[in-house]
Amino acid sequence: MLSGEDNAAVPACRKSCRSDSRHQAATSVTEDSRAGRSSVAETGKRPVVSIGTEALRAWLKAHGQPRYRLRQVLHWLLRRGASSFAQMSDLPAALRQQLEAAFVPVSARLRSTAACNDGSCKLLVELADGQQIECVLMESGMRRTLCVSTQAGCPIRCTFCASGAAGLVRNLAAHEIVEQFVLAQGLLGPQRRLTHAVIMGMGEPLANLSSLLAALELVCSSNGLGLSQRRITISTVGLPDRIRQLAELGHSYHLAVSLHAAGDELRKQLVPANASIGVRAIVDAADYYFQRTGRQVSYEYVLIRNVNDAPEHAHQLGRLLRGRKSYVNLIRYNPVPGTDYRRPSLRAAQRFAKIVRSYGVPTELRQTKGQKVEAACGQLRLRQLSS
Ligand code: SAH
Repeated sequence: MLSGEDNAAVPACRKSCRSDSRHQAATSVTEDSRAGRSSVAETGKRPVVSIGTEALRAWLKAHGQPRYRLRQVLHWLLRRGASSFAQMSDLPAALRQQLEAAFVPVSARLRSTAACNDGSCKLLVELADGQQIECVLMESGMRRTLCVSTQAGCPIRCTFCASGAAGLVRNLAAHEIVEQFVLAQGLLGPQRRLTHAVIMGMGEPLANLSSLLAALELVCSSNGLGLSQRRITISTVGLPDRIRQLAELGHSYHLAVSLHAAGDELRKQLVPANASIGVRAIVDAADYYFQRTGRQVSYEYVLIRNVNDAPEHAHQLGRLLRGRKSYVNLIRYNPVPGTDYRRPSLRAAQRFAKIVRSYGVPTELRQTKGQKVEAACGQLRLRQLSS
């Protein structure tokens, strides 16, 4: 079983936000003050993180700088969320100008933030080509978790999810994943460092694995945020080959598999991609992940009223996972406009959890945060697209 800490990071950005007017009252939506700064498109300069750590090291060396400058620049970005080179006050003025002439500090910009009074905040981020993605920042005690996107849109098209509604636009580049950390850290300020990340924003992380891994390598390195891999959860719809590939790389990221149904027929309705995959292959791959990494996989199960929340579904799930080194996170669905799916009652969810536990499968009903932030997974972007 994961430590309580890791476990608690899983659910919070759970696409939990709703957009009905009752909730809007407690939500503040603001245009970002930094929106006016010059963009990559305007300047033609490359974002500094996009050239890669080795190339940046070489660039600094070629400009006569000592080795430690690399760390200084990256710390300004990742640990302080700097939005300009001018801010980097412990760099020589000449170097700041040279950096300014060659690069932009960040290519993405915050379009807006929607803050919740429960400590969560949704960020709508615009990439250099105008594509929009979302991330969610969640604070709880000493824990500050960022929910990160890996694609603009999503190829999976889960029928209940807003992110897949318009399909995949494109994969994010590694630096666009890193920049979400920079922007979020910029909102938090240097005193409140990010402590965890969940790769549960828009997109299917394992369908953009190389960019994701490159980004996380920087985020986890001592030049970056220095986060332990164990504090990062990668959530997947369940792509068995990619799960096995990830297992073999020897990382210790936590893997969460979005299952939502224990049987193929029902899962196919919710996750059409399941038709060509099948639950069995996914669970076998998840077992393999545990064998190779020693890290238990969690199964995410979004409970949808009258769809997958009946006692028989819970028994099916219990039978499937009985005896496996894994555990279940149940999340009550957050309705997405344009779908008929609804959220089950708390009582129905508790009953479901009790049945799954009766098979000896550790099961938690996750409290969702961000109820008052404007939108569920992909909804904020969806609203922008449709307006
Ligand atoms: N593609 C990946 C990661 C992105 S979705 C995956 O499928 O895991 C992250 C999680 O949010 C998934 O478990 C997904 O099923 C869940 N989710 C999406 N929309 C939701 C909604 N409206 N309410 C609750 N959970 C939702």
